[in-house]
Amino acid sequence: MTTSGRIRAGGRAGPRLRVLILGGTAQARQLAAEATAVTDAPPAGRVVTSLAGRVARPRLPAGETRVGGFGGPDGLARWLRDEQISAVVDATHPFATRIAASAVAACTETGIPLLVLRRPGWVAGPGDDWHRVLDLGAAAAALPVLGRRAMLTTGRQSLPAFAPLDGIFFLIRTVDPPQPPLPADRVLLLDRGPYTVEGEVALMRRHDIDVLVTKDSGGEETAAKLTAANRLGLPVLMVDRAPAPDTATVATVDAALAWLLALPQSAGASGDQTG
Ligand code: NAP
Repeated sequence: MTTSGRIRAGGRAGPRLRVLILGGTAQARQLAAEATAVTDAPPAGRVVTSLAGRVARPRLPAGETRVGGFGGPDGLARWLRDEQISAVVDATHPFATRIAASAVAACTETGIPLLVLRRPGWVAGPGDDWHRVLDLGAAAAALPVLGRRAMLTTGRQSLPAFAPLDGIFFLIRTVDPPQPPLPADRVLLLDRGPYTVEGEVALMRRHDIDVLVTKDSGGEETAAKLTAANRLGLPVLMVDRAPAPDTATVATVDAALAWLLALPQSAGASGDQTG
């Protein structure tokens, strides 16, 4: 990257980003690091990442961090105005649908440009035995047909959907301890990765897993379990994403950064205006 946050020869400053990144994902952290590296220093430039506050010890991004909900679309719109934010990147998890809708509404109301940064969903390859379902309820309904010993990686908040299922063992992997209701026959594994294919194969073998249940999160970070299931010839129950918000969307951090740098407010300002 050739741009810089400092005033450069010729009296021009680097880009001045005032961006809110809705975070909680690896891509959000990468974008925060890249945007912080290129933007003008605070207070002229600001890169603020917002976290929901669900995870006890979150991996913190570069730049500023704020934690907790905004109080719906109106609260988010108010916050954007108060903090004089000039662009929003929704880099939340593809299954975080409420905050995504909130971002669309708040940015529509305030006229602030919004970009969705969302990695593509996974695509089945040779030898994969994937069964796609629309939501968690459908996954719970389909599970008894596919197996009796499930590895469940759909996240803490998804567990109530599987709690009523009798006669199925669950290996439940979450980042933080889940709250009841939980399936009765279970082993709980607290882990946040990164995971390797060899590690996932060994884990599935150790617990005699015969089906994997996952959301279609996409990305490399948690894809090892899919390769492991393929190697072991196991079916995968895959919960589909809800339709994406109808707004500008990119798949990569580089594309999101390019979008930010192309915004009119991001253009380098003359030295005496940089504050
Ligand atoms: P959600 O259902 O879309 O959000 C519920 C509420 O939590 C929102 O209405 C908002 O509260 C608040 N919120 C969510 N994300 C926020 C953020 N980045 N900053 C500030 N407030 C936020 O989301 P979720 O499924 O609970 O996920 C919460 C967070 O965990 C997301 O940021 C997401 O990136 C991350 N995450 C989710 C998953 C998943 O599978 N869902 C997986 C990995 C990481 P207000 O309405 O009060 O603003």
